[in-house]
Amino acid sequence: EQTESNLSVTVVGASGDLAKKKIFPALFALFYEDCLPPNFIIFGYARTKMTDEELREMISRTLTCRIDKRENCGDKMEEFLQRCFYHSGQYDSEEHFAELDKKLKQKEEGKLSNRLFYLSIPPNIFVDVVRCASCKASSGNGWTRVIVEKPFGRDSESSGELTRSLKQYLAEDQIFRIDHYLGKELVENLSVLRFSNLVFEPLWSRNYIRNVQFIFSEDFGTEGRGGYFDNYGIIRDIMQNHLLQILALFAMETPVSLDAEDVRNEKVKVLRSMRKLRLEDVVIGQYKGQSKGGKTYLGYTEDPTVPNDSLTPTFAAAALFIDNARWDGVPFLMKAGKALNTRRAEIRVQFRHVPGNLYKRNFGMDMDKATNELVLRVQPDEAIYLKINNKVPGLGMRLDRSDLNLLYKTRYSKEISDAYERLLLDAIEGERRLFIRSDELDAAWSIFTPLLKELETKKITPELYPYGSRGPVGTHYLAAEYNVRWGDLAEDE
Ligand code: NAP
Repeated sequence: EQTESNLSVTVVGASGDLAKKKIFPALFALFYEDCLPPNFIIFGYARTKMTDEELREMISRTLTCRIDKRENCGDKMEEFLQRCFYHSGQYDSEEHFAELDKKLKQKEEGKLSNRLFYLSIPPNIFVDVVRCASCKASSGNGWTRVIVEKPFGRDSESSGELTRSLKQYLAEDQIFRIDHYLGKELVENLSVLRFSNLVFEPLWSRNYIRNVQFIFSEDFGTEGRGGYFDNYGIIRDIMQNHLLQILALFAMETPVSLDAEDVRNEKVKVLRSMRKLRLEDVVIGQYKGQSKGGKTYLGYTEDPTVPNDSLTPTFAAAALFIDNARWDGVPFLMKAGKALNTRRAEIRVQFRHVPGNLYKRNFGMDMDKATNELVLRVQPDEAIYLKINNKVPGLGMRLDRSDLNLLYKTRYSKEISDAYERLLLDAIEGERRLFIRSDELDAAWSIFTPLLKELETKKITPELYPYGSRGPVGTHYLAAEYNVRWGDLAEDE
């Protein structure tokens, strides 16, 4: 027993939204699934004054027993809560972190102790916390790792500055930059689909793929929580990180192995082969108020937490290009927006037309509608489907667009784990494949930084679109310029 190591997880910003909604529930789910080491403790750290009991009471409200609705859940929850403690302190006080260290040591009882800090706090205090935690509360005999949440800066310079500051106190392999999209089931599956099925990888290039679309939409606006968002906008909040990460995984060359460094090397290569985004290849939008079914939805600038004259985009569409042999000339379209008509995240791959298609000649097929399309629906309702052309049964010859459909909820009975569970487990196990390395981050920012600067210096006005609509009309023109139809809109028709 004496040789068994300890794991201490400290959630910094434990009083906040993300901690309550995601981090504590994910830690509980891991405990429930027996994925945490036998000796683990969890500390909440924030300025808010709370006792251990009050923390337990707070987090118990968001813990769920979703996994197969097992019977002993109540007992497990109680067991878990008894391992949760709280320490109140300032984020820039070495003294307060030294007090935390003392409490941690007491619980660790002199065993080998590994320490994980999860920074669930606003970015302006990242560096203070890292300084205090690394100087005063690092593990003396095991590893110390820090999970950092986005935003990682707001452009190339500030991101580089943040990296340099963090590296004053931590080595690169101690920093786990989280992008929770990389922990999503369908995003992990992207590589499985591509590299373990003969029918996909040979088609994965400009020879057979016409375009690829990465779509993210939310059906709600900032709703009184626009303070953070207004400073960043949709391009920084969704595109430069989540959608670009998925794009890199989608388009990378086959890695030497599944080792973190091999995968991340390929992602960096593809990001570095991308063209910098030009203003002409981007459409930005902002939602305006709308009355619908007797209900009034406030426009973005009517949100009391947003300045009245804000030009921050709540919607953006962009055409990106990868200048390498595999993808030369293939448009990679991205679209992300708030307050739209649906909530979804998906990847759509549109294949080329069948050359000399027999059925076009004889049956007047609409070629545009007849392209094969592979869709990976990341959320909600995870699914993979392939649109194919099929004969309608009967004596005549009529063709039909049909789907080969893998709907997760009908195929797999187990509920899908939350992305935070996978990522937390990976961080505990030292698996870095799904975390962002600093050179990846630099490459990602350099694609978007010139555009973001231009939007801001030229004060480009976003096109207004009604709350709950499909977004700005300009999005269609952007796609049409590259001979593309948005797959999601065609499907909704
Ligand atoms: P939050 O609730 O605004 O902040 C977390 C905690 O930090 C608060 O409970 C507060 O604790 C402390 N805090 C807040 N503002 C502060 C300030 N100006 N100075 C010092 N301390 C402050 O944030 P969150 O929604 O939990 O998100 C945490 C981090 O994750 C953020 O960096 C955010 O950008 C990122 N993130 C959030 C989400 C999400 O879904 N919410 C998703 C992705 C990324 P005390 O007052 O008790 O000290």
